[in-house]
Amino acid sequence: MADSAIEEIKRRLDPVDVIGQTVQLKRAGRSFKGLCPFHSEKSPSFVVSPERGTWHCFGCSEGGDIFSFVQRRDNLDFPEALRLLAARAGVEVERISRPDPGVREQRDRLHALVESAALFYRSALTSSDGGRARAYLDGRGLVDATVERFGLGYADPSGRTLERHLLKAGFPVDDAVAVGALGRSEEGRTYDRFRDRVIFPIRDGDGRAIGFGGRAMRDDQQPKYLNSPQSELFDKGANLYALDQAAGPIREARRAIVVEGYMDALIAHQHGFANVVATLGTAIGERHIQTLRRLAPEIVLALDADPAGVKAALRGSDVASDTTADESPTILRVRGLGRFFADRRTEIKVMLLPAGRDPDDVIRADPALWARLASQALPIVDFVLHGLAQRHDLSASAGQREAAREAMTVIQDLPDPIERAHYIQRLARILNTREEFLLQAAGTRPRRQAAVEAPVAEPPRSQAEQLGDLVLALLLRAPSDATRPEAADFESAEHRAVYERLGRLAPPSNADAALDWLAHELGATFAPTLVRLRAAYDENERLTLDEASKELHVRTLELRKQRLFRQHQALDSALREDADRLSAAERRAYEERLAALAAHLGALFVEQQRLGVVGSASWSVRRGHEVLSPEVVSG
Ligand SMILES: [Zn+2]
Repeated sequence: MADSAIEEIKRRLDPVDVIGQTVQLKRAGRSFKGLCPFHSEKSPSFVVSPERGTWHCFGCSEGGDIFSFVQRRDNLDFPEALRLLAARAGVEVERISRPDPGVREQRDRLHALVESAALFYRSALTSSDGGRARAYLDGRGLVDATVERFGLGYADPSGRTLERHLLKAGFPVDDAVAVGALGRSEEGRTYDRFRDRVIFPIRDGDGRAIGFGGRAMRDDQQPKYLNSPQSELFDKGANLYALDQAAGPIREARRAIVVEGYMDALIAHQHGFANVVATLGTAIGERHIQTLRRLAPEIVLALDADPAGVKAALRGSDVASDTTADESPTILRVRGLGRFFADRRTEIKVMLLPAGRDPDDVIRADPALWARLASQALPIVDFVLHGLAQRHDLSASAGQREAAREAMTVIQDLPDPIERAHYIQRLARILNTREEFLLQAAGTRPRRQAAVEAPVAEPPRSQAEQLGDLVLALLLRAPSDATRPEAADFESAEHRAVYERLGRLAPPSNADAALDWLAHELGATFAPTLVRLRAAYDENERLTLDEASKELHVRTLELRKQRLFRQHQALDSALREDADRLSAAERRAYEERLAALAAHLGALFVEQQRLGVVGSASWSVRRGHEVLSPEVVSG
């Protein structure tokens, strides 16, 4: 089915990743922008929307989805582009791509083998031998329905029965060793890898069996958890336990919660928290997050609040590659997560569980507490700053240095310089030290991305520019009876031009159409402006018509106020400079106009305060209010 294959490819591939291979993309609101690869330009008019899965250029009016992008980029026909992206997505497009049948058959055979082993373990659990395992699961609080839904099983202590079963079923012994169902000794003897353990079958996102986790039931049995080894099917760095069951709920909840243990995940699902997955004995890594971020914008790591544990987890963050150790997993690893802060599509948060308690304990004792802790999860940077004083002795300089290093590891990965500066300031306050000390203690290096971002670098947006963009974007969104600014309210000629064109446009059917029409009307020099408008529009797209209308009113007042303020300033300095040359009457006329402006400004302030300011304004626009406080104007 080529159609569903196309959908599947679109679901799996992130347009920002695909297009980002060719175009340096930078976050702009909910979209990304960069220099168009299809026409020559110096400032970006090329926009990619990950949510819509589309791209569009305001300069040359090209646009489409990832398929059309690859077609244009590599000059391919559609089947060729489909084949290329299918390979990248790991989607099989049989009729078109004809993958090597040998490889597919081999994988299918391995999946069938693991599935067969899973069934074997499952039936062993219900047999008379499985009594102890059933009692163990019961003691852990799992009900039969959960045990069945996740296909839990039991491996007996003999070390031979699975091998016999698999061979009788006709599976080659080499395959069974390859997927780690059997082990092979140095002398070449094979044996069941899992012995006298409760078995947790592990499945990929599509529900195919790929491996097992085995839990010891006796205290003297080591290791406590034994996983299948890395194999052609089983990839600890990318697969997640319970993902096949959790994917739908994660999409619905717009949040994925990651825990460490299989039992934690099972108990969560049993209590209706079905958006929970577990890592397979490794720290969370980039590929796990790649998988989860396609499902939801928020990824929450559930962590024991024990300070020593958190400290160890953060230190573990320095390990650069996926650990393959089966023992003592810890899900938090900050390093390498930086690139996910960089594009702001995914918020990674930490929820702290009461010290010394597993998700399993918390959920069974108090499901409401779990829900509350999940909703109170802190963004990872806040989390790191939040607990510094508990984890380090900040009265000693060694402790301070350690704390600084720990926090700076995360802060330095933040892509936005304003945000970075904000957190460095906060850290300096927490440590009661100066910012320069922090930068030195952390051995700050210039940001790695700096060079990469250079081609799209541009001067920071002024407050006036941001406000103008916002008002124009709201005009695209707001109903026709909403308050409208006057052309003269806009400070920049660019904004005025867009505003005047917009006035001539019949009520636009949608923003895309309106922006396209503007691009056509205004020509390529306006492309950067339209890109900014698109971003501002996207940021405010979620507002209802009423909210957009109110927001437009508030912002229009602000725009008007800034215009009056500029006039006031100009008049005021003119009055000072020309004071000697003015007659008394001229002087009085100036002063009256100044007073009128101040009164008008004051009235606008009062109206603004009466309305209250809707919270979607950008940081610097809000700061604009402070600059333009009533005292300043009347004083
Ligand atoms: Zn273009």
